[in-house]
Amino acid sequence: MKKQLMFAAVLAAFAGSAMAEEIVVYSARAEQLVKPLIDAYKKETGVDVKLVSDKEGPLMERMRAEGSNSPADILLTVDAGNLWQASKMGLFKPIKSKVLDANVPAHLRDPKNEWFGLSIRARTIFYNTQKVKPAQLSSYEDLADPKWKGKLCLRTSKKVYNQSLVAMMLSEQGPAKTEKIVRGWVDNLATDVFPDDTKMLEAIGAGQCDVGIANTYYYGRLMEKSPNLPIGIFWANQKGKGTHVNVSGAGVAKYARNEQGAVKFIEWLSSDKAQNLFADVNMEFPVNPKVKPDPKVAAWGNFKHNLINVSNAGAKQAEAVMLMDRVGYK
Ligand code: FE
Repeated sequence: MKKQLMFAAVLAAFAGSAMAEEIVVYSARAEQLVKPLIDAYKKETGVDVKLVSDKEGPLMERMRAEGSNSPADILLTVDAGNLWQASKMGLFKPIKSKVLDANVPAHLRDPKNEWFGLSIRARTIFYNTQKVKPAQLSSYEDLADPKWKGKLCLRTSKKVYNQSLVAMMLSEQGPAKTEKIVRGWVDNLATDVFPDDTKMLEAIGAGQCDVGIANTYYYGRLMEKSPNLPIGIFWANQKGKGTHVNVSGAGVAKYARNEQGAVKFIEWLSSDKAQNLFADVNMEFPVNPKVKPDPKVAAWGNFKHNLINVSNAGAKQAEAVMLMDRVGYK
């Protein structure tokens, strides 16, 4: 009897410690996008994922200020420009994972293995279908042509998405060519820059502008709400190097208390099982090439991705910001 009791006590203690496994995720993504993943992971593994949500700037500052006392095991955010910044601030530790190497294409992760893309968003061209025929469209560069004078709409250059787009152009085409293009965009603007992609897309739908540049999931959300808007999607630069793609992604915190658990969770996020859950909820593309996108997203058609490593978005970010400022892109 005594022995049995002892055995029960040992079992209880073991179960207690197993249940206590916890990962703390600092997340700059909207909570409703992350919550379903956390619930599914808990259901599958029993691991508790604690979520701390804030905007990326304050979150990264907080992590840096907390230093080795930080409870964070993982930082999750959008845009390679932000992930690169976090890496530069020393917030990540590099991880070796055969699973991540297999699931995440090389151009969508940090060459130093500090962060990994987990979903793909394309930043491409959108047009008013009553005013523009797709045959008139070709590339980001073409939107600088005077034929689009007074017809182009853009979101503000203060948003990292545009900084990343221009940074990627800088790394491929160099400063002189890129400056000429961005200057041409500014000359072609139909109206002041917009505070967000959705307002810019609505202006295209309303006929205020003929063409513009936005992230695919904003288009997806808007068309789901207002399916009759005359807005079309056009895959930019298909005859060149391909459409600019960016990621949302994650890395393991430098002072992670549960490093192994953190790696396992990020690996799981990249797996067949989790990728649709991760991408579909925000109408993004899975990063894992074995996983098919949501049918609504797939309906936009296949396109050639630009295969330049997304970390260039960070490396050239400061230069991009200065360039945009110089040519008066507000
Ligand atoms: Fe966004």
